[in-house]
Amino acid sequence: MITGCNKLTQVTDVITQPTAREVYARNFDNDSLPYLNWNRAFARALQDSVEVKLPYAEQGVFNADNLPVYAYNLKLELGRNYHFQVKTDSLNPLVFIDIYEKTSDSIRPYKLLEQADYKTASLNFSPKNTGDFKLVIQPQLGATSDFTMSFGSAPAYAFPVAGLSSKAIQSFWGAARDGGSRSHEGVDIFASRGTPVLASVAGYVSSTGNRGLGGKQVWLRDGLFGSSLYYAHLDSIIASRGQRVKVGDTLGLIGNTGNARTTPPHLHFGIYRRGSGAINPFPFIEEAAFPEISETSTEIPTKVVVNASQANLRQGPSAKMQKNGSLSRRDTIWVLGRSADWLHIKTSENQSAFLHESLVQALN
Ligand SMILES: [Zn+2]
Repeated sequence: MITGCNKLTQVTDVITQPTAREVYARNFDNDSLPYLNWNRAFARALQDSVEVKLPYAEQGVFNADNLPVYAYNLKLELGRNYHFQVKTDSLNPLVFIDIYEKTSDSIRPYKLLEQADYKTASLNFSPKNTGDFKLVIQPQLGATSDFTMSFGSAPAYAFPVAGLSSKAIQSFWGAARDGGSRSHEGVDIFASRGTPVLASVAGYVSSTGNRGLGGKQVWLRDGLFGSSLYYAHLDSIIASRGQRVKVGDTLGLIGNTGNARTTPPHLHFGIYRRGSGAINPFPFIEEAAFPEISETSTEIPTKVVVNASQANLRQGPSAKMQKNGSLSRRDTIWVLGRSADWLHIKTSENQSAFLHESLVQALN
């Protein structure tokens, strides 16, 4: 039988560290057909190519009859701390949240990186590189509940200039410099002269000085990642070499020393990573972005019928997303959820896609 709670934790779990799915599997016989189908639905969803951009929210109903699995292709960036959450309204339905990284292996194109503690139905994830990932969400077998999914992210570092946010950045990574002979290896944050420049992370000051293009500068070594943060064009340096700092400690004051002499005062902020040199600092300090969740006024149907002569399926919840199929009048489809006015659907061939809600009407 299907139960909401998993079997007793086994003593060996301390050593083998089974995944949440493996622990859940102990509730079932290996040849239990509902359980096999639940696993097959999961394996199939790994082939899905639905793509969403963060911040993202989706609401709907877990309908046990259609073995719902939600798989999203996501582009995630080094420097962001991602938070994926699923809220349900029924008593403790288990929700599994897995995050995979795309590999170059054609046989196993996705490698499992992390799995949520299913009791909390939320997953925090900080990618070690910028790239393509897949998020898979599956409620426990038989779960029936309203749900709200929320995917968002926050910066890994604190903003390096007092009182400002990433809106104060006016020149970005990769912009042309010196007539295109080099490209901008950081971001420029404009602020009035004398504004404090802050430690974005706890660490120690590895170097200070007045030299070259950067003028008066401070180098902060990140104790956690081993990266170096570069603060340039300072009017004055306050931190001293070898000093240990906490997040928010003042390192210096905004100015326009070095090759910024002819421009208004600003901080040039860069991040250098061992082995890869300068990396784009913007994701590390861009302000947090979480979706706004609105109370749904209308009930979200679980099954709909197409009422247009042709209904284009899209890879994501926007008419700009690639078309990945089409349906005809009177085709019926499962609704997995809704994001704004787009339905996340599953066709009778088990293809997942998005469809504008104006093209369908609710069944029943
Ligand atoms: Zn700059």
